Amino acid sequence: MTVKTPIYLDHNATTSVDPRVLEAMMPYFTTRFGNAASRSHSFGWEAMDAVDRAREQIARLIGAEVKEIIFTSGATESDNIALKGVMENYQSKGNHLITAATEHKAVLDTAKYLEKKGYAVSILPVQEDGRVDTDLLDATITKNTVLISLMLANNETGVLHPVHEIGKIAEKHDVLFHCDATQAVGKVRIDVKEMGIHLMSMSGHKIYGPKGVGVLYVRSKSPKVNAAPVIHGGGHERGFRSGTLNVPGIVGMGAACELCGKEFDEEVPRLRGLRDKLENGITGGLEHVYVNGHPTERLVSTSNISFEWVEGEGIMLSMKEIAVSSGSACTSASLEPSFVLHAMGRSDELSHGSLRFSLGRWTTEDEIDYTVIRVIETVNRLREMSPLYEMSRKGVDLSKVEWNDEH
Ligand SMILES: *Cc1c(COP(=O)(O)O)cnc(C)c1O
Repeated sequence: MTVKTPIYLDHNATTSVDPRVLEAMMPYFTTRFGNAASRSHSFGWEAMDAVDRAREQIARLIGAEVKEIIFTSGATESDNIALKGVMENYQSKGNHLITAATEHKAVLDTAKYLEKKGYAVSILPVQEDGRVDTDLLDATITKNTVLISLMLANNETGVLHPVHEIGKIAEKHDVLFHCDATQAVGKVRIDVKEMGIHLMSMSGHKIYGPKGVGVLYVRSKSPKVNAAPVIHGGGHERGFRSGTLNVPGIVGMGAACELCGKEFDEEVPRLRGLRDKLENGITGGLEHVYVNGHPTERLVSTSNISFEWVEGEGIMLSMKEIAVSSGSACTSASLEPSFVLHAMGRSDELSHGSLRFSLGRWTTEDEIDYTVIRVIETVNRLREMSPLYEMSRKGVDLSKVEWNDEH
């Protein structure tokens, strides 16, 4: 088998720009460089037309109206506007925000900031399968609750929350529902109205578009949602987000969304096939490995696997020609075990010994075959060198061992 290395299996961290997206963007750096807010000449009109087209492409993919699409610098900013902007705007209604322990840091850290500012914040635990318990969500809502923020697909495990049900609960209690759908776009069919979503975050660089551009969907009727601005200025984007529009980036975001819609029916089963091949290969070739997260309610492109007795970092260092990750890109610089797996009740050991494989548009079957062989070989070799593996093979119950250092 010949495969070209390095192999990229870290698409949940970022994706390359699709050449078709880049081609659509190019003229907007040079000949069509106008400011989309310039209303007095053709340079401005051309840029505005391009932005309008992108709004249509994005709205079509998620079942929104064009005026409900707000451009931002990325999903981090979209999450910030959704949480800070909404909580500030609805202060007369209440001060309670509900989110969950496995959200992206862009939501969790913003929630913690709001808590410091005096808002009431409930952080729901998740079940072992990574999903929130909707009965618990229902019971957590009070008269003061303004907003529920729960993601569609988790970036580390791919686990999908029961979004339709969450939307119904939000509607029943007349509270707003923000959904970070950054990882789900292009892999899960999204209809914001049918799902009962009032605000939704997306990012360009997770869907083969450029970095530095994102979208916040904001519902315009039944109910009309408002959010105080986080960035003040010229009143662009209907006052939700000031600042000169990143026209090339926005054109790229639009083109990326159109491609996601066009290729959905072919791409989703293809990714599922490759993901299943990877999981079956690894779980069939090694003992004591666990696929984390709900068996079916999971992204077709993401596989998070724990390997007993070895560290994820160790596996990665021993197969450097395969780009995967342990934890999320933002926290993998530290050696702390994944907080997401921890919240799902995985032990520190199994959280440390986990790898995330995230497949993408150009992942091939040969790459998956190669990866399966390398993972099995690497884990076997590392286990042979592991004193823990040796002890457990001799029948020592590691959970009962008292260690004399706090590693
Ligand atoms: C990547 C990611 C973000 C952050 O997106 P940026 O556009 O990089 O700011 C937010 N939420 C989730 C779930 C993500 O995967």
